[in-house]
Amino acid sequence: MSKATDARAGTGLIRVDGVTKHFRRRDAPDTVALEDCSFTVEPGKLTVLMGPSGCGKSTLAYLIAGYLPLETGRITIDGAPVRGAGPDRMLVFQETALWPWMSVVDNVMFGPLARGSMGREQARREAEELLARFGLAEFAEKYPNQLSGGMKRRAELAQALINHPKVMILDEPFRGLDVMTRELMQEYYMQLFESTRPTTLFITSELEEAIFLADRLVFMSSGPGQIVRVMEVDLPHPRTFATMETERYLDVKKSVIGTLNESGAFETT
Ligand code: ADP
Ligand code: MG
Repeated sequence: MSKATDARAGTGLIRVDGVTKHFRRRDAPDTVALEDCSFTVEPGKLTVLMGPSGCGKSTLAYLIAGYLPLETGRITIDGAPVRGAGPDRMLVFQETALWPWMSVVDNVMFGPLARGSMGREQARREAEELLARFGLAEFAEKYPNQLSGGMKRRAELAQALINHPKVMILDEPFRGLDVMTRELMQEYYMQLFESTRPTTLFITSELEEAIFLADRLVFMSSGPGQIVRVMEVDLPHPRTFATMETERYLDVKKSVIGTLNESGAFETT
């Protein structure tokens, strides 16, 4: 395994414990974005956080990444409380994080250079390795606006992975891609995950995407955002798109939908 993509396997246990978050407003009643949310994201597993739009998924992602202050509850990574953002927790957003005025390879190198965690040569070598791995070797010197949507997402994954993060948080990274590209990216991303297994929290509002990717599925409901179910998804790895045509996948899907119906998770306010 190349050093550049070697996540710190076996570390990165995230514990979210009793987290409540209010957004205060001057002109209207406070929004209770999250209420008493508790779950864990285990090392080496892909945990999917799924729930309807507006239920508080991004708010949870920002709290875990340390971008938003935590008032009530506790969030720890390997036992240490989250205080502020850090390169050990990389958040990949649904919006592009590539700077349009920098070439693709410069974008990927930027994080470690800006922090001084790598010299130029090492950063360049690791960036090129990652881009090659993502099928972007020939696009290293291009600018983001010369890439397709799917390529931009791959470049963004490279941009996150060059930091050797302990945990990866992906907030609806494939939202807005056309259906074909999205499916290709899901399969591509699954291969990447299976080869490196970083502790991962993947956020989505799509059920099929959630089941295809998840080892563990954490389901939220809205108004206020609460965790309604945590389910283990017992589908074997490696998973490819063919997995979605297997009996086993359909059984899992039925059982997930059944469980969610029972828990009232589909009834959103
Ligand atoms: P999701 O990512 O699941 O779509 P969000 O976490 O973005 O949901 O939002 C959850 C709720 O919190 C929504 O009702 C949203 O309007 C509210 N909210 C999010 N950010 C802010 C903010 N900065 N100020 C006030 N309300 C916010
Ligand atoms: Mg969101």
